[in-house]
Amino acid sequence: MQRIGLTGGIASGKSTVARLLAARGVPVIDADALAREVVAPGSEGLAAIAARWPQVVRDGVLDRKALGALVFAAPAERLALEAITHPRIRAESTRRMAAAERAGAQQVVYEAALLFENDLDRGLDGTILVAADPALQVERLQGRDGLSAEEAEARLRAQLPLAEKKARATWVIDNSGDLEALRRRVDEVWAEVVRRT
Ligand code: ADP
Repeated sequence: MQRIGLTGGIASGKSTVARLLAARGVPVIDADALAREVVAPGSEGLAAIAARWPQVVRDGVLDRKALGALVFAAPAERLALEAITHPRIRAESTRRMAAAERAGAQQVVYEAALLFENDLDRGLDGTILVAADPALQVERLQGRDGLSAEEAEARLRAQLPLAEKKARATWVIDNSGDLEALRRRVDEVWAEVVRRT
């Protein structure tokens, strides 16, 4: 089974590509969804967070904004948080990959916004980067999340430059056209992935 990473900057169209692949029957593991699951109400991960930062858990629910502010300001705190979440995300991803393999999947897609930033591409067989013109990303981000242009631009600036990601990716899907063009390009790239298997 080939393990293929899927990443892309914010509002580049990564989730849209993941949906297109899932619709073709490709198992997709969403690392960002797993990151939320491992700190869901009642989870061991949330208990570990509450033990260290009691102020960010209220009525058994994580206050993401408060936690985000806390770790954004202090690298040591961020590392402590990652020491809680990363091993749990890894364990669950591994479990899901094994389940996909047992079910006979030839490929599995591992979707993560910070795939390269967190070196999650190590151990994968290839990576797909979804890229869009930054001006379009800002426009789509405003449309999807209701942000102002300034807020959308600030989110973009916080990410690894596109050129660096392009250099690291096995395949690049340019998503600067319409949805039909995206669908065609996804088919093309996926055919190459399958050919390599
Ligand atoms: P990401 O997962 O990379 O943050 P999404 O897949 O959620 O991005 O796409 C961001 C927004 O842009 C969504 O509202 C999506 O429907 C829209 N979108 C994605 N690709 C296109 C496209 N080719 N044309 C028009 N809208 C698009």
